[in-house]
Amino acid sequence: MLYLGRHARCYNGGNLRNALAPQDRTGSPPAVLAPHSAGSSSSTLGVHLRMTGQLLWLHRDEPLHKHTRVRLFFGDERELRFVDQRTFGQMWWVPPEVAPESIITGLGKLAVDPFSAEFSVEYLALKLRNRRRPIKTALLDQSVVAGLGNIYADEALFLSGILPETLCTHLQPEQIERLRSCIIQVLKASIEAGGTTFSNFLNVKGVNGNYGGVAWVYNRAGEPCRACGRAIQRTRLAGRSSHYCVQCQR
Ligand SMILES: [Zn+2]
Repeated sequence: MLYLGRHARCYNGGNLRNALAPQDRTGSPPAVLAPHSAGSSSSTLGVHLRMTGQLLWLHRDEPLHKHTRVRLFFGDERELRFVDQRTFGQMWWVPPEVAPESIITGLGKLAVDPFSAEFSVEYLALKLRNRRRPIKTALLDQSVVAGLGNIYADEALFLSGILPETLCTHLQPEQIERLRSCIIQVLKASIEAGGTTFSNFLNVKGVNGNYGGVAWVYNRAGEPCRACGRAIQRTRLAGRSSHYCVQCQR
């Protein structure tokens, strides 16, 4: 069963609520939907968390967070809640007979998963070849590598010893090799630490992660580098803030 909050941005080409049969909707809001509508085994549910979207796996008795947008009820008194303070997040329900890429159009542009075998040194080198743009900008491009956001791009560049402004064309093969392994390392560490990116970020159990607290450079402008002690710098690249150490990164 599914509950749609008042501000849920749910799309199925149009609106998720409208995509479901009227008899499956009770109340407005909240709408409670029968399992055969929203939970069909062969249909697809897509979620884009964006800035502040969170999925929480909780017991049904847990008090509702005020920014709860969608609730998916399961048989064992548990539920998956979609909480999103800033409402940039999106959710799609794709019927069984429809290809997910035709509705969730962003999927078609997504690059390979950094944890997959396809994310090889050769792949990354090919994606960065002939690109006269800063490496930081390239790393945020989801058609180069999927799932790397601003924070983890800064962290991976620090660990690789590469300045964010470095043009992709200037990267040496060994730098690309190091960057690839640092991207994987940073994402692994973040998942193990509970994933936090923002102070209000919670993991699926509703626990605040702590990756932000151990970041090498992200959000640490003016603070001493954890490796060399020099003050962390901050600049803007393609409209996003970048944090780096001029001593440790070249
Ligand atoms: Zn340093």
